[in-house]
Amino acid sequence: MKVAQDSVVTFNYILSNSAGEELERSEHNDPTAYLHGHFNIMFGLESALEGKSVGDSFVVNLRAAEAYGKRVENSSQRVPIKHLAKTKKTKLKVGSIVKINTEDGAKDATVLKVGKFNVDVDTNHPLAGVDLQFSIDILDVRDGTAEEISHGHAHGLGGHQH
Ligand code: ZN
Repeated sequence: MKVAQDSVVTFNYILSNSAGEELERSEHNDPTAYLHGHFNIMFGLESALEGKSVGDSFVVNLRAAEAYGKRVENSSQRVPIKHLAKTKKTKLKVGSIVKINTEDGAKDATVLKVGKFNVDVDTNHPLAGVDLQFSIDILDVRDGTAEEISHGHAHGLGGHQH
């Protein structure tokens, strides 16, 4: 079957920048699963997956603006450590990725400096301003269950765990 609205798609990916340097990859025993047509993954990636089938391998190029957005200058901010979500203070160091709460919900930020009670962070996503290339291998395509569709996400391996 082909990827369509309400399909659950399981895939492996290798994420590279436009120079071909690998940034991230899903492990073979840890693929990603998502419910198609529910804005769970980047729009450009979801569009490219539409109509694909199990066994398809292909490359998707996304410009920074279509991926994590453009880099915004002067976006450093001082945040109390206690306001960081799920972060152990001992794990904080320059370059760590942390989640901060903003008006638009939790966002990734990069630590610039660690103080006693506060951290200075750059609120750009670490991949902001980076053109991305995804190499995708589709492992499985199935119909989403009624429960998955009502929740708006995939369940099970690679999906949402309740
Ligand atoms: Zn759910």
